[in-house]
Amino acid sequence: MIAGNWKMNKTVKETKDFITKLKKHALPKNKDILICPPFTALSKASGLIKGSNIQLGAQNMHYEVAGAFTGEISPLMLKELGCKYVILGHSERRHIFNEDDSLINRKIKAALNLKLKPILCIGETLDQRKKNKTEGIVKSQLLNSLKDIKDISNIILAYEPVWAIGTGINAAPEQAEEIHKMIRTLIKKTYSPKAANDIRILYGGSVKPENIKELMKEQDIDGALVGGASLDTDKFFKLIN
Ligand code: PEP
Repeated sequence: MIAGNWKMNKTVKETKDFITKLKKHALPKNKDILICPPFTALSKASGLIKGSNIQLGAQNMHYEVAGAFTGEISPLMLKELGCKYVILGHSERRHIFNEDDSLINRKIKAALNLKLKPILCIGETLDQRKKNKTEGIVKSQLLNSLKDIKDISNIILAYEPVWAIGTGINAAPEQAEEIHKMIRTLIKKTYSPKAANDIRILYGGSVKPENIKELMKEQDIDGALVGGASLDTDKFFKLIN
C-alpha cells in the first residue's frame, strides 16, 4: 500500500487537478493506492476516483456517529463520502491536538464498527529514541491503542518515527525494519501468527522517490504512508511504482 496523507493541503480545485493528472498514468493493479485529502475535498475526490483503483481515506474522525461535537466529523459522514480508510493517531494529532492512546482506541473501535479501516500510527520522538525508549513507547502505543480489540484483520499499522516526519530525514531501512519486526513479533504474541503474518505495517517519515526502493526491500515493511512527497502527482506516481 502506498498512502498519501495530504494533511491540511489542497483545495477542492487542487484536488481535482491532482486526481485528473494521476488518473492519466497507468496505475498498477497489484497495489493499494490511497489518498487522504482534507475533509473539504473528500466529496469531490470521491467522485473523481470512481472507476480507478485509487482509494479514499480521511485523516481523522470523531468516535461518535453524530451529536453535539462542534467542528468534528463522524465516521458515518466519512463512510457516506466513500472513504474506506481513516488515519488515526497520527503524530500531529497526538502532539499538536493532545490525542492519547485511550482516545485513539475509542476512534479505532468506532471506525471498525462502521467498517472503515483504521491506519493506526505509532512512533517515538527523537528524545525518546535518544533515551533508548523506542521499543517501550511503540509497544505501549500499540497495545493501548488496540485495547479490547479482538479482531485486527481490518487494521493497518504505520510506524512513523516522529523525528522523521516532515524533516527530510528518513529512518535508515534497517532502523525501520528493526521496529517493524518488533511490532510483528508483538502482534504474534498478543494475537496470533496469522494476525502477524496478515497485518500490513507501513513505514512513514520522509519517504521520497529517492529512498522508497531501499525501504520497501525490507521484509517487514509492507508499504508507505507519505506526507510531503504525496502532494505532487509525479512524485506520488514514482512512489507507487
Ligand atoms: C506523514 O504525514 O505521515 C508523513 C510521513 O509525512 P512526511 O512524508 O512528509 O514525512
